[in-house]
Amino acid sequence: MSTKHSIAAEAFLKDQRQVAWHNETLWMVRAKRDKMSREVPEWEDLRRKACELKLYSNSHLDELLTQFEQKATANGAIVHWAKDAAEYRSIVYDILSSHHVKRFVKSKSMLAEECELNPYLLSKGIDVVETDLGERILQLMHLPPAHIVLPAIHIKRQQVAELFQKEMDAEPGNCDPTYLTHVARRNLRHIFLNAEAAMTGANFAVASTGDIVVCTNEGNADMGTSCPKLNIAAFGLEKIVPDLDALAVFTRLLARSGTGQPATTYTSHYRHPRKGGEYHIIIVDNGRTDILTHPDHIRTLNCIRCGACMNTCPVYRRSGGYSYTYFVPGPIGINLGMAHDPMKYSDNLSACSLCLSCSSVCPVMVDLGEQIYRWRQTLDGIGKANPVKKAMSGGMKTLMEHPSLFNTALRFAPWVNSLPRFLKYNRLDEWGKGRELPRFANESFNEMWKKHKVQGEQGKEESK
Ligand code: SF4
Repeated sequence: MSTKHSIAAEAFLKDQRQVAWHNETLWMVRAKRDKMSREVPEWEDLRRKACELKLYSNSHLDELLTQFEQKATANGAIVHWAKDAAEYRSIVYDILSSHHVKRFVKSKSMLAEECELNPYLLSKGIDVVETDLGERILQLMHLPPAHIVLPAIHIKRQQVAELFQKEMDAEPGNCDPTYLTHVARRNLRHIFLNAEAAMTGANFAVASTGDIVVCTNEGNADMGTSCPKLNIAAFGLEKIVPDLDALAVFTRLLARSGTGQPATTYTSHYRHPRKGGEYHIIIVDNGRTDILTHPDHIRTLNCIRCGACMNTCPVYRRSGGYSYTYFVPGPIGINLGMAHDPMKYSDNLSACSLCLSCSSVCPVMVDLGEQIYRWRQTLDGIGKANPVKKAMSGGMKTLMEHPSLFNTALRFAPWVNSLPRFLKYNRLDEWGKGRELPRFANESFNEMWKKHKVQGEQGKEESK
């Protein structure tokens, strides 16, 4: 019954101290989110409004994206359209190579991760420097992000200190977070000042104004784009929102849900190219319009990448971001992976207890747990059902449909209590890993019920 997720999770679970710390840290972020949401009396109305706005935007993409293109072009930007990851990568490369760029800075973009931009550009001889601190740490460690908002949440500051000593000449053994931040700042400042081009993702794209809106806590997107004359922004087409009023709904929800802050430290609007420079905007599909054809999964496109569903998920918190095979982990990653390629990413569906905590915290009401449940029901049809689980479900079905068989099985069940341990917990019993089988009662509920009923009736007779 092992899946790729459970095998990878087993590796993460070996370090119990790290698991406890990972779990507690993310739960603390979730608690901050709860506190923030309670301070906004109209919170549930905001969530409903955000969900409606997303459903509206995603069903009017043609109209809104065309309006965005017109406005952005009138603002002086150059708008490109990419149908898939390959087109996106080659558009970025063409822009950079036509300006002879050899080194550029980039703020965090999950779209760039999705489209594997960094390895592509490196293979073409262009150096990419991540400027978000967490992303920079991971880049130097040659690791992918483990969380969409807190990419290096699994890395301890002692590891960062060792890395910075090696890469940035930091003092040996100094793990003080403020010191480490200053070291990173000094190192990045030099890179910012010498960058030939900068790239950002986008949290939102506003159709009525042509604005690209980027939310960060470090100001790295602003620093990056302030120096070079050549700037690029790219966004997945579901990031479009109709106007600034709609944007206000999402910005009230985003940071509160993700990190428990009232707002991100920086919410920057990019509209025009820098004086004498160029501003390129790339609108990317890469399978998003295919999701529009799935009525059961359309709400996946509502996601504003706040990360709240990961922070609350008991499975994510205890198995870590690298246990999932899709590059986005947690509940939203399970759904996005399935929408993208069910044959490749169906293993992740097992990483869910169906507690639905994710659905209840999602600021845009993505029905995450419910969608996972629906995806599970498709597994048999695509030949991805686990054969052991399938056989067990078939066996249970037969028992449930035949009461006499069920009662006979119940009568013999207590025998299992006296079986030697090696017969119950062995390699064939994946379920028994880390779990203890409860003791079967000597008497079934059905038998107890009948007995008490008879005794009750006898008692009534005697008291007459
Ligand atoms: S699905 Fe909802 S909770 Fe999860 S990252 Fe997206 S917006 Fe946040």
